[in-house]
Amino acid sequence: MTIQHKYCIIFMCLALIQIACAFMAYKSEKPIGKYTARLNLAIMVPIVANILIIESGNPVFSYYSYSLSYIGMMLIMMALAHFTNVYCKGVDEGKAHTKPTFIYILGLIDIVQILLGPVFHHVITIESTMLDNRVFYFDVPHVGLTIHRVINYFVFACVLLIYILSTVKASKLYRAKYSIILITLILSGATQFAFIESRIPIDRSIIVHGVFGLTVYYISIRYRALGLLDTLLSNVVSDMNDAVFVFDNSSRVVWVNEQGYKLVGVEEGKVYLVREQLFDLFKNITNKGDNWSENRVIDDKYYILEKKSVKTDQKNLDGAFLVIRDDTKRHKDIEIELFNSTHDSLTGLLNMQSLYSNIKNVLISSDKEFYILFVNIKNFKLINDTFGKSFGDIVLLHMSKWLKANIKTGVYGRLIGDTFGVFIPKDAFDEQFFMTEFENFVVKFRQTEHKINIHMGVYDVRDRDMDISIMFDRAHLAITDIEENYRTVIRYYNDELRNTILEEQRLAADLTESLDSNQIVPYLQPIADKDGKVVGAEALARWIHPELGFLVPIRFIPVFEKNGMITDLDKHIWESACRILADWKDTDPERFISINISPKDFFFFDVISELSELVEKYDISPDNLRVEVTETAMMTNSEERIDIFNGLRSAGFIVEMDDFGSGYSSLNLLKDVPVDVLKLDMRFLSDEKNDKSSTIIKHIINLSNELDITTLTEGVETEEQFRQLVEMGCELFQGYYFAKPMPVDEFVKMYRGK
Ligand code: C2E
Ligand code: CA
Ligand code: CA
Repeated sequence: MTIQHKYCIIFMCLALIQIACAFMAYKSEKPIGKYTARLNLAIMVPIVANILIIESGNPVFSYYSYSLSYIGMMLIMMALAHFTNVYCKGVDEGKAHTKPTFIYILGLIDIVQILLGPVFHHVITIESTMLDNRVFYFDVPHVGLTIHRVINYFVFACVLLIYILSTVKASKLYRAKYSIILITLILSGATQFAFIESRIPIDRSIIVHGVFGLTVYYISIRYRALGLLDTLLSNVVSDMNDAVFVFDNSSRVVWVNEQGYKLVGVEEGKVYLVREQLFDLFKNITNKGDNWSENRVIDDKYYILEKKSVKTDQKNLDGAFLVIRDDTKRHKDIEIELFNSTHDSLTGLLNMQSLYSNIKNVLISSDKEFYILFVNIKNFKLINDTFGKSFGDIVLLHMSKWLKANIKTGVYGRLIGDTFGVFIPKDAFDEQFFMTEFENFVVKFRQTEHKINIHMGVYDVRDRDMDISIMFDRAHLAITDIEENYRTVIRYYNDELRNTILEEQRLAADLTESLDSNQIVPYLQPIADKDGKVVGAEALARWIHPELGFLVPIRFIPVFEKNGMITDLDKHIWESACRILADWKDTDPERFISINISPKDFFFFDVISELSELVEKYDISPDNLRVEVTETAMMTNSEERIDIFNGLRSAGFIVEMDDFGSGYSSLNLLKDVPVDVLKLDMRFLSDEKNDKSSTIIKHIINLSNELDITTLTEGVETEEQFRQLVEMGCELFQGYYFAKPMPVDEFVKMYRGK
C-alpha cells in the first residue's frame, strides 16, 4: 500500500467521524449543537479536499482540490468563530448570540479571492514531484495564499485569545471546558504551521484537525463537568444536618461530611479513622443488606439510619451511602408536646382528660377496689381576690406538691381550677390521715401562714363501667350542699345524697310553675301579746307539691337561696301577705303580718320600692307589713344594709331582726342597727331550764327595752316559758304554745275579729 493510500484511508475515517459528530451534535437538542455540527462539517471539507489532493491524477484537479482545502480552512475558521462566540459566552436558550459578522466578511472576501484564483493565478500554481513512486502535485504559494493565511491566522489568533481569556477567567470547575479546546486548538495550529514550513507533501496536520473536531464535539456535547456535580453534591451533602458516610464496594468509608465526622468524633479529614468509630457506635451496618432504614436509640439519643446501595448495573455494587439523622430533638419535642397535652401547665399534674384515661386503664387492669376523691380548695376565688393570683397559684402548687408527696399508690391530677382528682385503692386510703393533713393545710406567703380550707368528696367506685366524669361528679356532689364551712370536710357520696340533690334539681325546675299555680302558699303562725291576744302572724311558706306532697321550707328554701330563685318565691309570699292584709282591713285593721326577707333579695332588687309598690297596690298601711331580716343578713355588708333598713322604716315598715342569738354578733351592735323589733329564738338558747340562758334572755330584753326595741320571743312551747318571758318584760310571743303555722282559711276562722 502506498503512503497516499494509507493517508487516504485515515482521512476518510476522519471525514466519517466528522459526519457522525455533526449528526449527533445536531440531534443532541443542546443549543450549542448546531454550532458544533457546523464546525464538524466545516472540518470535513479540508479533509475531503486533502483526500482529493492525494488521489488526484492531474494538475488541474489538484489545483481545484487545493482551492477547496483553502476554502474549507476558511469555513472552519468562520464556524469556529461562531461556535466560540456562542460557547464562551455561555449558551442559554433564548439568549441572542451575535454573529461574528466581521469574521464572516473577512471569510467571504477570502473565499472570493480564492475562487478568483483560476482567473488571476494569484493564489497558487501546481507543480509535481514523486512520492512513493507516484506523481504528487503540490501547491506553490503566491500572494493570494498569503492573504488567505493572514486572514486565517488572524481569525485563529482571535479565537485563541478568546479561549485563553475564558480559561483564565473560568472557575476551577469550568476551566477544563475551555482549556481542553484551547490545547487541541494550539496543537492544530502548531501542526499546520509545521506542515506549511516543512513543505512536505500530504498535509498531516489534517489528522490533528480531525481530532480537534472530535474533541470539540465531545467537550461541547458529551462532556459533563463531573467535578461540578461532585462539588455541588458534596456541598449539598456537607450542608445537610444529617451525617453522611460514603462507602466503596468493599465497605470502606471513602467520604464523610462534616456532621459525620462530628457524630463519630473523628477529626475532619481523617476519613480512614471513621470506619472503626462508626461501627463501634452503630453496630450491624454492613451486614443488613443493600437498602434498609431503621431507628436506633443510643444513650438517650434517637437516630434514624438509612443505607442505600449504588449500582450502575444490575449485578455489581459500586458503593453505598449511609445517612444518619439525629432525631433526638424531634423526639424530645414530641415528648414535650405529649406532656403538655396531658399535663396541667401550672402544677405539672395530669390534666383532667389524661387523669380520666389513666383511671380507665387502671380500672381495666386491676381488680382492686377504689375510691374517687374530689378535692376542692374552698373559697379559692376569695383567696385570689384577696391575696392576688400569684398566691392562688402558690396554693394550687402547694396542693400538687402535697399530692405528689402523699399519694403513693393511685393516680391524681388537676381537674379544673381549684379542684383536684385522686383515684386511690381503698386499702391505701386512710380517711383520718387526709383529715389531719387537710386540717393543717397551711400555705406560707409573705411571712404569713394562711390556713387553707379543704372539702373532699369521696365516691366508692362500685360500677366500674361508669363514666369517670360521672364518678367525679358524684364525689363532687357529696360536698356541693355543704354550706360555708370553715373546717375540713370529708363526705362520702351515697344514693340518698344523690336523691336529695336530684330532688333539689327537680324542685328548682318546678318552681316557676308552682308559683303560677299557687302550689306555694303562705301559712300563718299567730303572734300574741302579753295577754295571749293574737295581734299578728308570720307568713311562712309551704309548698303543696302535686307529687311530693306537703313540703316545709327547709326542703326548698335552701335550694332556692342557692340558685337565686328565692327572690321569686319571696315576692310571691309578700304579695299573698298583702292580699290577706287587704282582706283584713275592715275586720282586723290593727293586725300585722311579718314576712321574711332573704339576704339574696337585697342583691337582686330594690326591696324598698318593691314593698312600697305592693303596699300601694293593695292599699294597706305599711306598718301592718313587718319585715324580718335575719341577724346575720343584717350584719353583713352592714353600712349599705343600714341604709336600706332606714329606708324601710321611713317608708313606714316595721323592721324586725330575726333569729337573734343565732349568729355571732354582739349585743353592742344592737344600738347601731335600726330595728323596731328583736326576734329572739328560744331554740337558739340551748336549755331553757338553764339559769344562764334565762339570765341572757333577761339581759337581752332589758337592753332592748332600754333601746326602745320591742322584743318578740319565738319558739315558745310551754305556758311556763310564756309566763317567765312575760315576767322578764317580753312583749310579743310566737310558738307552738299558741299555734303552729296554719293555712290562711284556718287562721281566719279562728281569729277573725278576736
Ligand atoms: P323563721 O323565720 O325563724 O321561722 C320560724 C320557724 O320556726 C318556722 O319554721 C316555724 O314553723 C318554726 N316554729 C314556730 N314556733 C315554733 C315552736 O314553738 N317550736 C318549734 N320547734 N318551731 C317553731 P318553718 O315554717 O319551717 O320555717 C323555717 C324557716 O324558713 C324560717 O325560719 C324562715 O327562715 C324560712 N322561711 C319560711 N318562709 C319563708 C319565706 O317565705 N321566705 C323566706 N325567705 N324564708 C322563709
Ligand atoms: Ca322569720
Ligand atoms: Ca325566726
